[in-house]
Amino acid sequence: MIWEPNYECLSREDMQSIQLDRLQSVVGNVYNRVPHYTKLFDEHGVKPEDIKHIEDIRKLPFTTKEVLSNNYPYGLFAVPLKEIVRIHSSSGTTGKQKVVGYTKRDIRTWANLIARIATMAGVTDEDIAQICFGYGLFTGGFGLHYGLEKLGAMIVPASTGNTERQITMMQDFGTTVLVSTPSYALYMVEVAEEMGVDTSKLKLKVGLFGAEPCTLNMRKEIERRWNMKVTDNYGMTELGGPGVAGECECGEGMHINEDHFFPEIINPETGEVLGFGETGELVLTSLTREAFPMIRYRTRDITMLIDEPCSCGRSTVRMKKVTGRADDMLIIRGVNVYPSQIETVLLETEGVAPHYQLIVTQHNYMDDLEVQVELSGDNFSGKFKELEELERTLRGKINKALQISVRVKLLEPKSLERTVGKAKRIVDMRPKE
Ligand code: AMP
Ligand code: ZN
Repeated sequence: MIWEPNYECLSREDMQSIQLDRLQSVVGNVYNRVPHYTKLFDEHGVKPEDIKHIEDIRKLPFTTKEVLSNNYPYGLFAVPLKEIVRIHSSSGTTGKQKVVGYTKRDIRTWANLIARIATMAGVTDEDIAQICFGYGLFTGGFGLHYGLEKLGAMIVPASTGNTERQITMMQDFGTTVLVSTPSYALYMVEVAEEMGVDTSKLKLKVGLFGAEPCTLNMRKEIERRWNMKVTDNYGMTELGGPGVAGECECGEGMHINEDHFFPEIINPETGEVLGFGETGELVLTSLTREAFPMIRYRTRDITMLIDEPCSCGRSTVRMKKVTGRADDMLIIRGVNVYPSQIETVLLETEGVAPHYQLIVTQHNYMDDLEVQVELSGDNFSGKFKELEELERTLRGKINKALQISVRVKLLEPKSLERTVGKAKRIVDMRPKE
């Protein structure tokens, strides 16, 4: 089934005509209503009237994530606060970075887009969906919730945590759709196995997974151990959350909801726009969001666009799975982590030097982050007990700042390699394929 064939199966020409209409309207809106864009467009000498063809989007300047923090919290809203009915914020931070707003219509559109991607994955109104995403500022919980409800599925709003209870719910309620991060799905199956649950006896049919990369091996492992089909979907807070793209049952990339998000791929170094089949940074323009439109937002996610027809019947452009980032953001168990957040904590803590390295590994497909930090010279003679105390304090502070748990390892002064250029902060040893 296709949720909205009128939009998902259009000819290229018809799609572009809708995109152009909507682009003209959103560009006019931001230019007239958001001071940041008025200034930026003026600086670039571009006016809304200059958008005559869809390719004219290239005349517009990019938006970067710094623009969001510089305009924190409400500076980029394109409607008065009175019309905002909800805000969300990015994962893993204390809410200082990216705040996005939604009007009533935005919430309805969002639900519809999630209904589209869930339908792509094979979910129907017969299904029972257990949502194991946090319900809160993170977009995942509420986003999937409203969309699946719109689709008519029955929802178990389980949220995160208490894994044994999650599994009991699956058994008792007859869950057929699991909504979570792939890493949590793997952790859950481990717990299920420890509980002696025969997963082949569960009713699970499909996993709607997103928020972090999932390697092919990880996918196979989840499919085998849970005995269900795994699908990927993509989105981010800045563009309103999940609902940007989703994988259909053919499993050959994720269909982008192109009538709502205009995709481009650029060379992350030069900003040059690349063609289909070329790998680069994904840039998205939201075409229909009222409260929080984004013009040419640089996602920093590395992927590729495919325009070949898909055998599912949808004609929307697809994106391949995300293979990396163009910045230093790490995704640890579904939570976005920037080295600078850790650095801030280290700088605030007496006894350690600002020389550190983040070691990321994976055990049983679960991400593990170890923060290795050097003791400052004058502390090195410290007693074991004091060192233990320092380690505990640091761990506590970092866990609080990142909202995930990490391990801390104190190193002797000057034990990390010094470089003349950019310090190598991240050693990511997780499998890439
Ligand atoms: P957030 O704003 O917390 O939802 O995080 C958004 C970021 O998570 C994106 O920019 C991607 O880097 C990552 N992400 C989201 N969905 C996926 C996915 N399906 N595969 C890989 N990375 C993803
Ligand atoms: Zn398809």
